Amino acid sequence: MNLHEYQGKEILSSFGVRTQRGIVASTPEEAVEAAKKLTEETGTGWHVIKAQIHAGGRGKGGGVKLAKNLDEVKSISDDILGMMLITPQTSAEGKLVNQVLIAEDVYYPGDSEPNEFYMSVLLNRATGRNMIMYSTEGGMDIEAVAEETPHLIFTEEVDPGTGLLPFQARKIAFNLGLSGGAMKEMVKFVTALYTAYVKSDSALFEINPVLKTSDDKILAVDAKVTLDENALFRHKDYAALRDEREENPIEVEAKAAGLNYVDLDGNVGCMVNGAGLAMGTMDLIKQAGGDPANFLDVGGTADAKRVETAFGIILKDPNVKAILVNIFGGIVRCDRVAQGVVDAYKNMGDKINVPIICRLQGTNAKEAKDLIDNSGMEIISATEFQEAADKVGEVLKA
Ligand code: GDP
Ligand code: MN
Repeated sequence: MNLHEYQGKEILSSFGVRTQRGIVASTPEEAVEAAKKLTEETGTGWHVIKAQIHAGGRGKGGGVKLAKNLDEVKSISDDILGMMLITPQTSAEGKLVNQVLIAEDVYYPGDSEPNEFYMSVLLNRATGRNMIMYSTEGGMDIEAVAEETPHLIFTEEVDPGTGLLPFQARKIAFNLGLSGGAMKEMVKFVTALYTAYVKSDSALFEINPVLKTSDDKILAVDAKVTLDENALFRHKDYAALRDEREENPIEVEAKAAGLNYVDLDGNVGCMVNGAGLAMGTMDLIKQAGGDPANFLDVGGTADAKRVETAFGIILKDPNVKAILVNIFGGIVRCDRVAQGVVDAYKNMGDKINVPIICRLQGTNAKEAKDLIDNSGMEIISATEFQEAADKVGEVLKA
């Protein structure tokens, strides 16, 4: 689950990671109040106004602006709120900005060369260890650094059993070229950051930039935090951080219906039971010249109600030109699933406007095929996996 920058920073702070202070606002008036409050707390009269969307590269798209006084806080917030922000990480239409973060300006005006580092914490699946990636070349172009000068990106692997050891934290600070007070601050920062990552059960932390001020403070100026959804049950308070406005609306609906659905770019809708079979089905569709429009695992109980919900969700995607139902009847008998498909088809009437290819295999497969063939519905039945994929290829060509 992805979080907004301001939420990520709240989590970091709660574990003692120093972060740029800020207050979130939904209107220009709230933005001004936030700025006044920050000035009382921090003494600074300058603020950055930062668009809160689930995408990076906001600075490049005009979603991060500096305000030198309250009038500018108001007018810049007014401009950014409600805009469709286009960044290298959004679609061409951009993303609607519902909130802005009003943050203290932490780049001192006298600082000619602020030191911006890059730091992320993530799981290295290959080694089964957590990994801290970091670079002296932080700021807005880390992708270019990774591409052109990959030797400037360091990694430190952390054994989850021992946690981050003090020498590792010192090595990181050293590789970032720090010494004296700044080195001590960085050791504290990275230690707290690693603890926060583990304790919050996060899947990814990306802090870019981590700033070193001229008076040797180290702080997180940006925060991209992805929580591990499978661990949310251990953090009841984090559930409220979900912002469904940022998520794919079809995926949100599928989730509410208890379906495991991932939206993809292709033209063949898939309704499958079991994640492994769903993956295999997607491969076969590709081979047959199609492109999967989604991953959908309907689960074990593919009854009429569930099949109907799944059809409805698949058909919300306007790119879908055919639907392949590929279900293995192990515990659930194929003829029951077939009845479900036929009933759902009947109930949905002309809402189903694309060909459906249905392959049911397993217990009572023969009865299932007969049921579909004799239903009078326009459902193309198949028994073999390859046969089903070929039929998908045919209807796409037709
Ligand atoms: P991103 O573009 O989505 O990654 O958003 P960031 O939060 O990283 O902000 C983009 C850039 O804005 C940063 O790389 C900084 O250079 C700049 N920035 C962020 N906070 C401040 C600030 O307090 N003062 C100034 N002057 N610049 C800032
Ligand atoms: Mn950033």
